Amino acid sequence: MVLLAGCNQSSKNQEATLVQDAASTRSPQSEKIQIVTTFLPMYWFTKAVVGDAANVEILVPPGTEVHEYQATPDNVKTLATANVLVKNGLGLEEFLADTIKNAENSQLKEIDASKGIQALQETSPVEKIDTEHAHEHNHEHSSGNPHVWLDPVLVKQQVNNIRDGIIAADPKNKGIYQANAAVYIKKLDDLHNEFQQTLQNYPNCTFITFHNAYPYIAKRYQIKQVAVVEIPEDQLTPQDIQRTIDAVKKYKVKTLFGEPGVNNKLLKTLSQDLDLTLHPLFSLETGESNPNYYFQAMRDNLQSLESACK
Ligand SMILES: [Zn+2]
Repeated sequence: MVLLAGCNQSSKNQEATLVQDAASTRSPQSEKIQIVTTFLPMYWFTKAVVGDAANVEILVPPGTEVHEYQATPDNVKTLATANVLVKNGLGLEEFLADTIKNAENSQLKEIDASKGIQALQETSPVEKIDTEHAHEHNHEHSSGNPHVWLDPVLVKQQVNNIRDGIIAADPKNKGIYQANAAVYIKKLDDLHNEFQQTLQNYPNCTFITFHNAYPYIAKRYQIKQVAVVEIPEDQLTPQDIQRTIDAVKKYKVKTLFGEPGVNNKLLKTLSQDLDLTLHPLFSLETGESNPNYYFQAMRDNLQSLESACK
């Protein structure tokens, strides 16, 4: 009887916490800490670690381009009341510095998921990228290429960084965070093994992309990315097209990779004109919010890469 009453009490409290909005859960008494993540991969990895033991929010909506993201007043509000912020780092979240400043939250703990990861400064043999274009998109490379989440081995390190940072902020749930992280890391190990076993059959296979997002995966599995465009564009310029034609000839590829969610009409026409197949390749900057979506999309990527390398 006593136990039952205790249970009721605690579930009531939990309910109360859940219906409160972010602004009113600031008090240190509130049971779950508030974690804010920047964009989708950070949301997945954090959600995988915390499960239901903490509240996880995302600043960049899943369908929105992170590279050119502009923060909203709501983002500032969310950060103002959060306990922890999880970011990819490596210069990806350009909107973040000002947003954090405006949030004026001196209690906010920041987790840099890429801490300890050696960023690639130079990408694999990339075609000369139009630097004027890159500049126009405000995509500086001072911190190296930020797309580390496309390499399952580096994601393990990101998950470890996120786990350790969250444990430091919320030690009472340490056991939960450790156990959840271990499950996700096991899945990352399996994914890595699949990539390795499949792609080791195609050493130095070259693939052409329209987003310089794949140098880490290329390096890990000893294949070669040739990015003819830095950041996905709705319109390819005549120079982009010329670079593509040159790269197709130079590397003798039979496939182009388009990004789902980007307008690929021109890419379709171009592939037909050049007698190439067009495959999807996910940069995972957008997608579904379920943390296991990562594995599904990465396996689709593996399939696409294999069919191009065969
Ligand atoms: Zn990108």
